[in-house]
Amino acid sequence: MKRSRIWQLALGTLGIALVTAALVLTHGNARGLERVPFEAPPRSSLESWADVFARAPRVALVSLDTGTVGVPRQLMLGAHPAAASYVPDPTLLRVFAHLIRHPRFGDVLVDSGLDASFASDPYGNVARPARWIIDAFLHARYTQEPGHDVMAQLAAQGAHPSAVFFTHLHLDHTAGIPALSAASPNLRLVTGPHEADDFSGWFGFGHVRGDQRWTELDFAGARDMAPLGPAIDVFGDGSFWAISTPGHSIGHVSFVVNAEDGPVLLTGDATHYNWAFEHDVGPSGTDEAQAQESLDHLRAFASAYPDVRVHTGHEASIGSSAPGPSVRAPGALPSGPSGTSTPVGAQR
Ligand SMILES: [Zn+2]
Repeated sequence: MKRSRIWQLALGTLGIALVTAALVLTHGNARGLERVPFEAPPRSSLESWADVFARAPRVALVSLDTGTVGVPRQLMLGAHPAAASYVPDPTLLRVFAHLIRHPRFGDVLVDSGLDASFASDPYGNVARPARWIIDAFLHARYTQEPGHDVMAQLAAQGAHPSAVFFTHLHLDHTAGIPALSAASPNLRLVTGPHEADDFSGWFGFGHVRGDQRWTELDFAGARDMAPLGPAIDVFGDGSFWAISTPGHSIGHVSFVVNAEDGPVLLTGDATHYNWAFEHDVGPSGTDEAQAQESLDHLRAFASAYPDVRVHTGHEASIGSSAPGPSVRAPGALPSGPSGTSTPVGAQR
């Protein structure tokens, strides 16, 4: 047998082995996962966002900056004509968990942030067999200053979340699950419809496991809150809303918080960073046309309600109304990449 033929066979076998490993990692995880529907509370009398911002109770919102992810920003843009004009900003993207503190219903999180493993390892707690995926496809490196992990910041706040509402299940949003679950065995994990079917969210990273019980939001009967479409009033009092924004992932969800210092839109990765939001460039994802449509809804909302602060998935927020810093870390000054004071309504 010729040498080149042997090499071809060897490479072919390696390829098949990698694909098999990926499938096992993915579907092995999915087996046995328990999913239960989210039981939405009875509808309040709040019919519009103007109603919500005028009448709903306000809750404390603390955005926890748990580290950075170094990843080529262009990878996150969908195939939009304006994407070609993007001059990559070298500023590292941040990985957030958002703490919502309700006076009656206690603490919940939006996304889980990074755990302490990321302070000493650029792969953090990502399971070893899956690390090659980070190298091959995501080119991502994580950094974290000691003490900025999600658990340390929750402890500093004296917070004890009973649930995590996920924008989606990509690894930079799920990395805090093992630590949070270990601290609170009854922690509720809440995700968008069919999000667990999103292949990329399941790639054996070790955060989402078959022995977990997941609660799924269902937007089918939810109130239509124009221009955002179906919205779930999570606590039933208008203080915290889940919005369906699919496209970056199958069941992607964004959130509106009627926060103490003014309403905030947490876009999640329906738009990763401020340039993309400001230039109407939808994200890459499972369905880019759908993702663009979701972004258009978010932009229409920001336009109609210019006092709403927009917090994109991986950057400090855009908005003119917030009196204080939007991002806090223990002992740190607010981290605010350039451009954070641009009023949202001023870009078009
Ligand atoms: Zn992300």
